[in-house]
Order: sequence, then C-alpha cells, then structure tokens
Amino acid sequence: MRAGETVSPRLRGPVMMTSGVLAATAVSVLARVHPATAVAVAALFSGLLAVVTGLVVLVTSWRRGDAMRLSARFLAMAMVTWGVGQLVIGGEASLGDPVFPTLGDVLGTVSAPLGVTGLLLALRPRSVRTHWARMTLDSLLLGCATLLMLWRVAYRPALLSGGLSAGDALALLIALIETSILALLVLGWLREFDRGLLLTMLGFAVYAAADGYTLRSVAQGHLWPWAAAALWCIAWPAIGEGVLRLQPARHADDGRASEARVALTTTVVTFIVLVVAVAAFAGDPVTDSVTIAVAVAMIAVFSAREAWTGVQRGRLMRSLTRQAMQDPLTGLGNRRALGWRLEELADTPEGAVLTLDLDGFKEVNDVLGHSRGDDLLVAVADCVHAALEPDCRAFRVGGDEFVVVVPGGGGRDRALAHTLLEAVRAAALALPGAAAVRVSTSIGVARWSGGATAAAVVESGVALHAAKQSGRDRVERYDGPVAAQHRRSLDVERRLRVAVRTGDVDVHYQPVLRLESEASEASEASEAVVGFEALARWVDPLLGRVTPDEFIPAAERCGLIAELGTHVLRRSLADLAALDASVAGARVAVNVSPVQLRSPTFAADVADLLAEAGVPATRLVIEVTESAFVGEDAGELGQLQQLRALGVWVAIDDFGSGYSALAYLSRLPASTLKLDQGLTANLTTDPRALAVMRSIIDLGRALPLDVVVEGIETTEVRDVVRELGARYAQGWLYAAAVPLDQVAGVVADLERRRLPVIRG
Ligand code: C2E
Ligand code: MG
Ligand code: MG
Repeated sequence: MRAGETVSPRLRGPVMMTSGVLAATAVSVLARVHPATAVAVAALFSGLLAVVTGLVVLVTSWRRGDAMRLSARFLAMAMVTWGVGQLVIGGEASLGDPVFPTLGDVLGTVSAPLGVTGLLLALRPRSVRTHWARMTLDSLLLGCATLLMLWRVAYRPALLSGGLSAGDALALLIALIETSILALLVLGWLREFDRGLLLTMLGFAVYAAADGYTLRSVAQGHLWPWAAAALWCIAWPAIGEGVLRLQPARHADDGRASEARVALTTTVVTFIVLVVAVAAFAGDPVTDSVTIAVAVAMIAVFSAREAWTGVQRGRLMRSLTRQAMQDPLTGLGNRRALGWRLEELADTPEGAVLTLDLDGFKEVNDVLGHSRGDDLLVAVADCVHAALEPDCRAFRVGGDEFVVVVPGGGGRDRALAHTLLEAVRAAALALPGAAAVRVSTSIGVARWSGGATAAAVVESGVALHAAKQSGRDRVERYDGPVAAQHRRSLDVERRLRVAVRTGDVDVHYQPVLRLESEASEASEASEAVVGFEALARWVDPLLGRVTPDEFIPAAERCGLIAELGTHVLRRSLADLAALDASVAGARVAVNVSPVQLRSPTFAADVADLLAEAGVPATRLVIEVTESAFVGEDAGELGQLQQLRALGVWVAIDDFGSGYSALAYLSRLPASTLKLDQGLTANLTTDPRALAVMRSIIDLGRALPLDVVVEGIETTEVRDVVRELGARYAQGWLYAAAVPLDQVAGVVADLERRRLPVIRG
C-alpha cells in the first residue's frame, strides 16, 4: 500500500467494480419493475456511484507524491461534479419531467473540462513532446473519422427531420471530443502498455458508449434511456480504479520499443481513417453540411499532422547534424566539422592551419582527476574561441588536440599562434589545483596555398610533432628543416613501398667472429668466423643509398615492416647454403623489429620460412632490440618463447644503448647479448666506458649469455674486449657488411690475415 492510501489496492478494485455491477443491475431491475421512476432511479444510482468513486480517488490520491497526483485529483473532481449533476437530475426527475438542459446537465457539462484535463495530465508526461503533439493530432483524426462514421451510420438516419438543432450540434461536438479522448487513451496505452491506462481506457469507452446511446435516443426524440445509466455505473468504477493504478511515466524517451509502436500506430491510424472515409460514403454519396464539415475537419487535421511532421523532421535533421558536427564537451566543431570547413575553404587561395596539443594534459587527468581535465579542455576551448577573429574557426579533433583554421594571408597566423600559447598558459594557471601540474601547449603551424587545405592539416601536425620533439611549449612552423625532413620521409616511404614490392631491398652479410679458440689455455688465440649478421641494404634509383636507420623506421611507420622483414628472413635463409660454403655450419643472425614481434603469428611464420628453406632452426639467430620489451608485452615474450622452443637462438641487440633495464634479462629466453657499438667507441680513452663494458661482460657471463661486442674497429679495442672476457666480436676491423657474392672472398681474406693474438 502506498503512503497516503486509505484502502488496500487489492481490495479496492474488486469492491468498486462489484458495487458498479450491482448498481447497474439494480438500475435495470428497478427500471423494469417501476418504469415511471426509471429516469430518476438511474440518474440517482449513477450519480451516487460517480460521487463515491470520485471521493475514493480523491482521498486515495490526496497524499500521493508522484506525477499522477494532479491528474487523479482533476479526474476525481470531474467524477464528483458529474455525479452531483446526475443526483440533481435524479431529484428533478422525481419531482416532474425535467426539461433539457437542467441544472444537472449544466453540472455534467462543467465536469467535462475537468475530466479532459485530468486525462491529458495523465497522458502528457508519458511521452516526449514531439510524440505528444503527434498523438494529439492522431487522436483528433481518429475522433473525426469515428464521428463521420457515427454520423453517417447511426445519427443521420435517426434524425427525424432534416434540420440539425443546436442540441444535435452539441451532441456531435461531445461525440467528437469523446472519441478523440478515447483514441488518445488507446494511443497512450500502445506506447507503454500501462495496465491502469488500459482500465481507464475501457471504462472511458463504456462511458462514451453510454453517452452516444443517450445522444442518439435524444436525437430520435426518445426519453433519456436508463440503460445508459447502467453503463455509467460500470464505467465510473473502472475509470476510478484505472486512474489510481496509473504508473508515473518512465523517463520520457527511454522506450526504444515504443518508438516502433508509435510509427506503427501512425500507419494504422492513417489506414483506418482512409478506410472510414471511403466506407462512410460507399453506397450513400449524399453530402450534407455535417458530413462536409467533418470531412473538411479531417482534411485540416491531416494536413496539420503532415505539416507538423515535416517541421519536426527538419528540426530533428538539424539537431542530428549539429550533434554529428559538434564536440559535446567544448561546443567546438569536431573532426567532421573541420573536414567541412576545409572543403569550404578549398577556393580560398591561401590560409593557415594551427594544430595545438596540450603538454602535460595526461598529468592533469592523473593528478587532478578527469573532471578537472574536462574543465581544462573547456577553458582552453573558450580562450581559443575568444582569441579568434570572426572568419577563423576552432575545432577539437582529439582528446587534447585542437585545430584552428585561419583563412587568408597577412601573417595573422603567426600572431595568433603566440596569443594562443599565452592564452592556454593562462587558462591552465586559472585551473583549481594548477600548482600541482605543469600545463602548456605545443603548436604546429602550416600555411596553404592554392586550396591545399587538407595537406596543411597534415603539415601542421608534422610541425606540432617537431614542436613536441624540441621541448614543448613552443610554436613550430612547417618550413625549413621541418618541411625538408617531412618531405624526405614521405619520399622514403613512397619509394620504399615500390622497393619492397619489387624485392629491391638487398641483404648484405657482416661476419661475426669468435675471439678465442676453444683451447683457452693456449698462449695464442686466433679468431674464426662463426656466423653472419644479415643487414638490409637499399639503393634507390632516385634517392640513392638510404641507410637502414632511415628506412627501417619508415617501414615501421607505413606498415611495410612485416613484408620487408619476411623478405630479409627468406633471403638470408636462402643464402645460408652459400654462406655455409665459406664457413661450415655458420649461423645467420637476422634483425627483427618490435612491430614484427607483436604479430601473434610471427613464430609460426618463422617456422614456415625455415621449413621452406630446409634450414634447421638452430642455424638462425633472431636479433631483437631491448626497446621491444620496454612495454613488457606478454605477446612479444610469448613469440620469443615459441621461437626458442623451435630451436631458434635469440639475441638481445644494441644492449647498453637504451634504458638497459636489467630485470628483464633473466626472464627473456635469450642466448646472446650484443653490446652496442656506442659502448665500444670510447673504450680505450674513457676509463668509465671500460668499467661499464667490464661489468656488462661479467653480467653476461654470469647469466650466462654469449657476449658479442659490436663496433670493433681497431685491434686495440679488440684486445681490450677479449681481455675483459667477451667471446665474440663484430666490426669493421674484420669486415663491413658485404653482398653475398663477396662473402667467400672476405672470409678467405680473414683467414689469411688471421694473425696470432698475443695474450696479455
Ligand atoms: P644493428 O643490428 O646493431 O646492426 C649493426 C650496425 O652496425 C649495422 O649498421 C652495421 O653496418 C654497423 N656496424 C658494423 N660494424 C661496425 C663498426 O665497426 N663500426 C660502426 N660504427 N658500425 C658498424 P646498419 O647496417 O646501418 O644497420 C643499422 C641498424 O638497422 C641495425 O643495427 C638494425 O637495428 C637495423 N637493421 C638493419 N637491417 C635490418 C633488417 O633487416 N631488419 C630490421 N628490423 N632491422 C634492420
Ligand atoms: Mg643487429
Ligand atoms: Mg646492434
């Protein structure tokens, strides 16, 4: 039982309905037994029932706190007023034959607007505004259609004389209102299937049927029929109970399923109306003023409904377009809006694009929380917007990335970029808690000419990247070295695509040597080639020689690295037979990019390539740089473990060049540590470099890992690293990387030069 209710809802319904049925039966019986008092009795009974139901509704709903409260009160008042009107009519009838309209009729009429208001209040919050208006128009249309049918089928034939009295016109108006309300209840119920609404609707249908019956009888010149009162006795408890059971509307537009029902209902309504209109005239094409008036009303409502739908559709389209174009947080245009603006400006001969990216924004989110982060973005958007002249536009194209488009020349972009730099700094300082973080912005600026706006966006991004690289909190323009560097990398990417496709990337081999003979006690040790490192080489007809340090990152950027890596691996394995001819059992070491390792099929692909070449896995070394494990991706580690399981050796390349976190060394399935040439370079001049080298070699031996020292250029360095205990060496002292056909010559040369190494 809800707070404030006086009667248990479970008892209330049955009690009310039973009393309604009993009253209806009593009216029927009494009217038959004593026809003379039939009118008075019928009016008194139905009136009494309406008053009692109204009071129950009023009392029960009085302290209800929900949205249905007001509608229930209006309906209760309507019931009570209507009931009192009937009681008065009953009294008047028992005194003599009342003449229409009596005082009771007047009270009954007063109740109508109260009841209509109550019903509308019950229905209104159940629907978003657009549906509400649409439902009202639909209901009116259905009301008109029903009225047309009633008029043509029941009322007009019953009319005694051809003339239409004021009473008849009023009766028709009442019929129109009642059928429209009934239609509204039906449509409302179809949206939500509320049981209270269903009961109200059924009760109201019975009430309207009784009303219609009364009106028709009066039009035929009969007395007011007692049977109508019997129907009212049933209608009021149903309406009252229905109203009390009405549930407050769920959130206005939560029902996606009900959207489909609204659309379906609209179609059904249109269909019914058209069928009714055709049926009403079938076989009886007589047109009278009422038919014409109702038909015209129908056409008017129909047109209004269509016009209204059109307006709504336009509004919806506009709002959808706005939503699709706008960043909801800052209100600036989004990436799509930027695209439109750039297209718009394609005819503008020159202009500039500024790309801004906040520095330290992640910190704001992490330290001050995401809502402060949002505040900052809004503040930045506001200050950017405020700094713009009317023809300039700002867009938010990513988390903390903004783009400003400045049409025309005159160096406005230069001034604006510096204004924005200051403005963002100020906005960041004004943020509560700003002392804890350091926020600034980096700005990339690119100009366009000849309408190449889209290219300018890319170029301003490149300039932004350069600004970030050279220390943040600055403006960098896309010109000079930045532009030259970008153009070069674009050229490299474009030409590399061709080279990889045509297999024009070559592979050269650099020997790896063992520093000591196995007989380490011997006072003399000599070096022997044990394998080769495969190194990619590319000479482009247009660009000339491009170093791997340039084209490997380019291949990683533009998604070519997997293809290039496979090419190098396949070539190296195929060349192994020829390398074997120079050095029996030589291993080939192939460099692998972290990007390749991220592929979940990498190990399987290597296995396939080994099988294809017919080379045992133990002849292959995969070199991976330590940067591949900075993120400690389990997937990459898994690929290495699978390779080890196959028998492939794993070498950690360029050790000592980066962060050289030692923790992962023991976890990696590696067999070899290749020390970066940066460590080798100052070995003979810098005692600290020597100390570092010594400890890394000791570490490698302790783990144990084979240590290969790269970048051996002189015999002094070779001697030092050998003294420190390194087992393998690679470097120009022995040979640079050479094409396959020179490998045999290089190895022969090394054999010849194999000078005894004097051990210290
Ligand atoms: P890396 O794997 O450390 O390769 C050794 C680099 O040192 C090679 O440079 C080699 O030519 C050079 N080098 C050899 N001996 C000496 C020396 O005594 N002194 C000096 N200063 N340098 C020496 P390169 O060929 O320019 O390769 C650079 C890097 O490019 C390689 O470093 C490797 O990381 C990468 N790379 C080369 N080929 C491939 C490839 O096929 N795939 C992948 N993913 N990366 C490759
Ligand atoms: Mg390498
Ligand atoms: Mg290396």
